[in-house]
Amino acid sequence: MNLALEAFLDLYPEKVPEHTFSLGYSGKFRGYNANVKMRGKKMMFWLSRKWKTIQPEIQMGIIQELMVRIFKDKRNTTGMDLYHTFLKNIHMVIPKTKSDPLLEASFVRINEKYFFGMLEQPNLAWGTASFRKLGSYEYGTDTITLSRILSEDPELVDYVMHHEMLHKKLQYKAKNGRSLHHSSEFRRLEKRFENSALLEKRLQNLGRKRKRGFFNGLFGSPGVD
Ligand SMILES: [Zn+2]
Repeated sequence: MNLALEAFLDLYPEKVPEHTFSLGYSGKFRGYNANVKMRGKKMMFWLSRKWKTIQPEIQMGIIQELMVRIFKDKRNTTGMDLYHTFLKNIHMVIPKTKSDPLLEASFVRINEKYFFGMLEQPNLAWGTASFRKLGSYEYGTDTITLSRILSEDPELVDYVMHHEMLHKKLQYKAKNGRSLHHSSEFRRLEKRFENSALLEKRLQNLGRKRKRGFFNGLFGSPGVD
């Protein structure tokens, strides 16, 4: 029995599967991302090649996360909990190889001012010059990425850096296939940033043609806040 079918039967012990399930590993994903493709009654799960050596129970967890979303359902399994624990801890073993002088200076400045210098430095990278995706924190690669359009404005670099650092610090709450990244605590702490209301306005002006979106990095699909 393949792991995707096993994941289905564990998630829906009372159901008879109407789909056929397949599982493949691919080198095209960053980090521990994954996706699912539907073709008629065939469900194809694709996991990053990095998943190959990870415990089957945790792999079942990410497959079940995808299933719950596809079926627009709310369910939770031990595997799903294991997957989130895995994703939240993977930063400890991810090599920090990416940095940039401007981003690093911003990270250090914000870390000192708002995090008592206690936050571990993740990978830091510039993304494309996107107005839609101004910043992201990706758990599976422990990477903060900022849009290149911010590079001309050091204050906005700091403001978006602070937002992404809060993601790394607070992480997220997951239950029944839903994840909460911007909790009320997150919003409260985001406002402690000096002149946050003003900077928030400037950020919105910057992307006024496109809705502002912060990327959550789960499954490689954009999450808009
Ligand atoms: Zn965010």
